[in-house]
Amino acid sequence: MRSGARLFLLALSCFLLLAASSDTEPALHGYSAASSRSQRDWETKFRAIPEPQNQRDYMQRLSARPHHVGSPYDKDNAEWMLNKFKEWGLDASIETFDVLFPTPKVRVVELLEPTKFTARLQEPVLAVDPTSNQQAEQLPTYNAYSADGDVTAPLVYVNYGTPDDYEELARMGVSVKGAIAIARYGNSWRGIKPKVAAEHGAVGCLIYSDPADDGYAQGDVFPNGAWRPRDGVQRGSVMDMPLYPGDPLTPGVGATKDAKRLDLKDVKTITRIPVLPISYADAQPLLAALKGEVVPEAWRGSLPQSYYAGPGPAKVHLKVQSNWDIKPLYDVIVKIPGSTNPDEWVVRGNHHDAWVNGAEDPISGTVALMEEARGFATLLKQGWKPKRTIIYCVWDGEEPALLGSTEWGEAHADELRRHAVAYINSDGNGRGYLSMGGSHSLERFINAVAREI
Ligand SMILES: [Zn+2]
Repeated sequence: MRSGARLFLLALSCFLLLAASSDTEPALHGYSAASSRSQRDWETKFRAIPEPQNQRDYMQRLSARPHHVGSPYDKDNAEWMLNKFKEWGLDASIETFDVLFPTPKVRVVELLEPTKFTARLQEPVLAVDPTSNQQAEQLPTYNAYSADGDVTAPLVYVNYGTPDDYEELARMGVSVKGAIAIARYGNSWRGIKPKVAAEHGAVGCLIYSDPADDGYAQGDVFPNGAWRPRDGVQRGSVMDMPLYPGDPLTPGVGATKDAKRLDLKDVKTITRIPVLPISYADAQPLLAALKGEVVPEAWRGSLPQSYYAGPGPAKVHLKVQSNWDIKPLYDVIVKIPGSTNPDEWVVRGNHHDAWVNGAEDPISGTVALMEEARGFATLLKQGWKPKRTIIYCVWDGEEPALLGSTEWGEAHADELRRHAVAYINSDGNGRGYLSMGGSHSLERFINAVAREI
C-alpha cells in the first residue's frame, strides 16, 4: 500500500550539533534530566550506525525478482532476512500461515460493438528496466479477490465510481443496471469501486488509470519520468477489507494449519462482480466507443477525446477466473527482550511482499527497518538494553489484504491484549517530508523525535 506512514530514521550529520549542545537542552519528553542525558548518548551512537550502502545492498537483493505471496522469491527473501537478523545476533524466527490467495487463470476484456478491440492486459518489457523482462515470474495484471465471472454488457463510464458519482449519473438519467462500469483509479480506495458498482446493479467493473490522475498530465511518464506510461497497470486488492481484513477463510482467528476454515462460497469479502484493472492504452478504445451525454467537466480525464457516460453503444465482454489456492505466508519476527518492563511490547513492522519487484513499496521501507534492527543489535553488544520488549515484524501478504499482520495479530490476540503498548508501522521511504499518522496522544513524541533527527 502506498499510503502508509513514512518513517525516517536516518543518520544525519547534524547529530554532532545535537551532541555538542546536549548539556543545555531540555530533558527529552518522558525522561528525567539524568536519564535524558544517557538516552541522548545512546541515540547519538544509534544514529551513527545506519549505512546507506547496506540499504542499497539489501534493496538490490530483496527487489531482484518478483516476490508476491506464494512466489519462490517471497520465501527466499524471508529466509534471507531471517539469516541477516540471526547473523547480527538477534533472536529471529519465521511464523507461517496458510491463506486464500487467488491468482489469475483467465482474463479477457474485449470490445464487441460498435468496433472490435481486444485489450492486451500486459505490461511491456522496457530495455531501461532490467526487471521488466521477468514476466514468467510476474503476477499478471489483476485485482486480487475479484469474483469469477463471464459477462457481456453495455459499458457505462462512472468517473471514480464513488457514491457521489452515482448520484450524478442518476441526475443524468444513466443507470449501470446490467452494465459493465468503467471507473478511473483515484479519489477512493479501489475496492469501493466494484462494491458500489455492484450495489447499483452493474454486472462487471473495469478500473483504469487515467493520464489525468496517473500519467502524462501529471509529469513525464516512465522511463523519462516517474509517472505511469500508457501500458502500465495498477495491480491491487479489491477485497472488502472494511468488513474484515486478512485471510477470507479464517475471520477472527489465525490461519494456522488446523484453523477452522469457511467454505469459499460463504466468504463475504470477495467482490460480487468480476473486476479487472486496465491501462489507459487498453481503456482508450473502450471509452472512445461510448456515446450518450458528455460527462460533467470534473469527470473528464486527459485522454485526447470526448468523455461520454454511455450506456453503450460500446458493448464489452469481461471474463475473470482465478486459481483459488491456499498459499503460505512467511512473517519474519525478531524479539529484543526488555530489561525493566519486559511485559510491555513495542511492535515495529513493515511488510516485505510486493505485487511485483516492489523496490519502492515496500522495500524502501523494509531496508530501513532492517538497518534500524542492525543498529539495535549493535547497541545491544555495547551494553544497551531497551526498557520494554521490542518486536520486529516483517510481514508477508500485506498487498493482497494485510494478510501477514492480521493473521499474526489474530494468532497472538491474547498476548497482544496483555502486552502490546504501541505499534509503529512504515511502508516506504522517499525524498521529501516526514509524514506520520496515528494516535493523537503520540503527536508530541513524534514531533520531538523529528526535531532530534
Ligand atoms: Zn506497502
